[in-house]
Amino acid sequence: MNLHSMRFRLTAWYAVLLAGALVLLGFSVYIGLEHYLSGSALRTLAEQSHSIGSELLVNLPEKGPHWLAEEIEEAYAPEANGNFIRVSRSDGTPVYVSGQPKDNSFDPLLVPVFWSPSTAESSKKVRIPGGVLLVESLAFINPDGSRYIVENGTSYADIQKVLNGLLRLVALYLPFVVSLAGLGGYWLMRRSLRPVDEITRRAEGITSSNLSERLPVIKTGDELERLSIALNRMIARLEDAFQHIHRFSADASHELRTPLTILQLELEEIAQHRELPPATADQIGSALEETQRLSRIIENLMAIARLDAGEVKMDKVLLNLGDLATSTAEQMKLLAEEKSLNLNCRIYSSVRVLGDHSRLKQVIVNLIDNAIKYTPEGGAIEVTVRSSDGKGVLEVNDNGLGISPEVMPHVFERFYRADKARSRDSGGAGLGLAIVKAICSAHGAEVQVASQEGEGSRFRVELPLAQGSIYPSCGGISTWSGVSGNTG
Ligand code: ADP
Repeated sequence: MNLHSMRFRLTAWYAVLLAGALVLLGFSVYIGLEHYLSGSALRTLAEQSHSIGSELLVNLPEKGPHWLAEEIEEAYAPEANGNFIRVSRSDGTPVYVSGQPKDNSFDPLLVPVFWSPSTAESSKKVRIPGGVLLVESLAFINPDGSRYIVENGTSYADIQKVLNGLLRLVALYLPFVVSLAGLGGYWLMRRSLRPVDEITRRAEGITSSNLSERLPVIKTGDELERLSIALNRMIARLEDAFQHIHRFSADASHELRTPLTILQLELEEIAQHRELPPATADQIGSALEETQRLSRIIENLMAIARLDAGEVKMDKVLLNLGDLATSTAEQMKLLAEEKSLNLNCRIYSSVRVLGDHSRLKQVIVNLIDNAIKYTPEGGAIEVTVRSSDGKGVLEVNDNGLGISPEVMPHVFERFYRADKARSRDSGGAGLGLAIVKAICSAHGAEVQVASQEGEGSRFRVELPLAQGSIYPSCGGISTWSGVSGNTG
């Protein structure tokens, strides 16, 4: 579970707020219930005190305290009910005090007198050794003018028991309810945020080469629908901008081609004059070389721009990658031999792909050409073709100069050359690998490089296989070597 995910954070907030609301509700119910139970207990006590006053105390002067005690015990049985009753004269002299309750929960003699002559009726929670009592006290005046105080109390333990039961219930059910709501909330959140995963997955796959793709729009009318529509509009604007740039590069290269060709022709014409001084002839020859280089760069640039803009029509046919690699390597063997390089070609399985013959050949040419350029004399280059994980794999390995880790991420960029002076000497402008990448993208293929500086490089092209196209090569590996006697 990702603790930073929106799903988790929203669920956690939801659970915390729900727990808070339930605690608040529990607290309010606790207070309300306590108020209600204490209130009704005090009301009962007050009723009893009133009837003691109006029915018994009026007869006290003539019938005496003994009679009063008997009457109270008979009518209210305070000891048996765990209650407390005390009748005193206004000067505090006790007339009657109930005995020890049956459950011995408190001692009636320890209950303090808290009545004040200014109040006719009052109630109080009294803390005594052994517990808490709710006491209602009432001042009563007989018709003969004598004043009495009736104090009537009951234990708070029963009310506390009910309140504790409520607390236990809340403490027991709260974690259960919160966990259940949390799980439900997480599940709901997962369901409603699932389109976000899909949008993220699809957005990850959109690059400059497939800007025509769009994100899925789920017609729910909510924020997610609005977000995906807004993102799609943004991708459309990016696509327009990219196409504009690509068209500009293609047009610029195209426009440069004509004056350059005229310049080249004119220079060639001048170079043919016999009476030219040797120094001028040299200068013209060098200028011609530069125009040729320039025209190669423009051709390459135009090729990349047109590939990027999708203007190049790919003439895709079913072709055997192994055969293409073998014939291309064979054609380049002279170049390799000039540097005494050992150029091998190994075909591990017959791989058929759907592709443009001349463009894929250009990929192989550019990779072998680089391997030849960046491998010192006496080195070895190996071209292999195999199928792996449902893909056709072409690899060009060399044991040449290799590429440093800081350079590696840039080699497919346009005009990027690791060692500019060396690369320029060998005629490169840093466009060879950019063309390889553009052609691969147009074929839905991937190109990767792995290299160790000073030990060599491996360029790997993975092409989607044409349906039902892998056949293990007859008799195992088919090998071709550019230097006689070196078949690996
Ligand atoms: P260039 O025309 O300069 O060769 P590329 O686009 O073909 O341009 O290659 C870009 C850079 O990648 C080169 O300048 C070179 O430094 C590096 N590179 C390409 N292939 C290899 C290789 N086989 N071995 C070492 N470096 C290579």
